[in-house]
Amino acid sequence: MKYLVICISTFLFCTFTSSNGAPSVSTLSACLTKQGVRNFTASQSTSFSAVLDFSVQNLRFTEAGVGHPALIVLPTTTQEVQKAWTCIRQGGWASRVRCGGHSYEGLSYTSSAPFVIIDLMNMHKITVDARGRTVWVEAGARTGELYSAVAAASSNTLGLSAGTCATIGMSGHIMGGGYGMLSRKYGVAADSVLEAQVITANGTLINRVSTADPDLFWALRGGGGGAWGIVTAWKLKLVSVPSTLTTFNVWRTGKQALTDLVFKWQNVAPQAPPELFLSLYMAGINTGGSADVGASFYGQYWGSIEETLALFNKIYPELALTASNCKQGNWIQAVANIAGVSGPSALVDRQQSSRNYFKAKSDYVSTPLTKVALAGAFDVLMKNTKGWIIFEPYGGVMSQISSSAIAFPHRAGRLFMVQYQAVWQDDTNSPDSELIGWLRGLYSYMSPFVTYTPSRTTYVNYIDLDLGDSVTAGKSYFGSNFARLVKIKARFDPTNVFNQPQSVPVSM
Ligand SMILES: Cc1cc2nc3c(=O)[nH]c(=O)nc-3n(C[C@H](O)[C@H](O)[C@H](O)COP(=O)(O)OP(=O)(O)OC[C@H]3O[C@@H](n4cnc5c(N)ncnc54)[C@H](O)[C@@H]3O)c2cc1C
Repeated sequence: MKYLVICISTFLFCTFTSSNGAPSVSTLSACLTKQGVRNFTASQSTSFSAVLDFSVQNLRFTEAGVGHPALIVLPTTTQEVQKAWTCIRQGGWASRVRCGGHSYEGLSYTSSAPFVIIDLMNMHKITVDARGRTVWVEAGARTGELYSAVAAASSNTLGLSAGTCATIGMSGHIMGGGYGMLSRKYGVAADSVLEAQVITANGTLINRVSTADPDLFWALRGGGGGAWGIVTAWKLKLVSVPSTLTTFNVWRTGKQALTDLVFKWQNVAPQAPPELFLSLYMAGINTGGSADVGASFYGQYWGSIEETLALFNKIYPELALTASNCKQGNWIQAVANIAGVSGPSALVDRQQSSRNYFKAKSDYVSTPLTKVALAGAFDVLMKNTKGWIIFEPYGGVMSQISSSAIAFPHRAGRLFMVQYQAVWQDDTNSPDSELIGWLRGLYSYMSPFVTYTPSRTTYVNYIDLDLGDSVTAGKSYFGSNFARLVKIKARFDPTNVFNQPQSVPVSM
């Protein structure tokens, strides 16, 4: 199933009535039909589960007790989004907007109040202007299909800075920042936004947000999803990519050896030329019945295998990277390698081939961890083979962009971003609470070694409900940009129509 286009006639809908004034599905269905919006499905329809499930990335939110929508609308045009929005508001419904459904906490498709999803999966048209080095992308497009379209339209000369996974929704991603392999060279995805189109709480379409409301335009670029209206399209700046890149992946094991290697990594990856992206994944492993640590050093470099090895020999000989760890190709082949898909043609698949139950948390590091601190983190990792830590290098252009240029705040001084994940598959016997407890323990262990500004600094695209309410979490996600975001929110959406548990609030 590549993606879903459903047309369901009105007689399939359930007929909830509202004797008590609560939102009524039948009234909403009738309104949508009257407005000519036919692409929607209600919870009693046979297609409902498939439509809901299609963009659920974290299986934790498929479990019993999670609040699911009464109805999902799948507009195909901006006008249909406006009409659907009018019906949703008239009916008194809460709502969620969903793009790729990759929210770590399921915030685009869950709610405790009765609600409706506007799912943008059918709005994913991509119009590349290779000569002008720009692209207009409808709000439901995914990273992989966008990368493919840009590479194809530019004969592999242009690219775009965004995340490494191919199925992330561009809208949620941009609204949280959007970090990937080109970020040290060109910034995050939000840095490349030239224009946006947004539907406001009263249903008005703002066609050119950059000039109509520069503050809102600033907030949309990293101020978090679900708070700023419904974005229907983005115009993005494209960037030059070289004809030859090398991707590499090398696996090393052993706590002592890794303590030394990772200690050095902290001084190599963030300081390296911006053409190098050297990421680090570390996990607890079990070798012959004994607990240990394994790490994958992976990434890409703008050059041939020979040039990559020469660079590593100079700046990181301890890693002992060899040609057998490397693959050479063009940019779109590098994107596919890092995304872990079978090849460039698979980048257009809009659903991940495998999905997990997971919980994640994040941090930033501004001062390298000592070897003792790293060894302690490995000790925590070794207690569990279902969890890992990822270090993603900053530096390069990321350090040169002002932290107030757009709402995404993490710039100079950040050496790297840390992501902690607990990931599991089968939920029937799996003690979720134990794994999540372990993850929280790891986060707690790391607390003396990470960045505070003054709240503990975290990445909103790795959204984490443990951080607390929207004010506490907002300070952590946005640092010194939070106060400005709150002011913009109070002016633009004073009744907080667009919200999720950690969206920017109207007051502090
Ligand atoms: C497997 C996986 C890999 C990832 N890899 C990376 C990575 O490499 N780099 C990185 O930076 N991040 C990465 N992320 C995190 C990702 O960037 C965020 O989860 C992002 O918010 C997902 O966007 P989405 O549109 O897919 O999610 P959704 O769940 O659809 O949306 C996220 C939030 O944005 C809101 N939203 C979505 N669309 C709109 C819209 N059109 N208008 C208004 N609000 C909207 C939603 O309501 C929700 O609050 C990854 C996540 C996963 C699950």
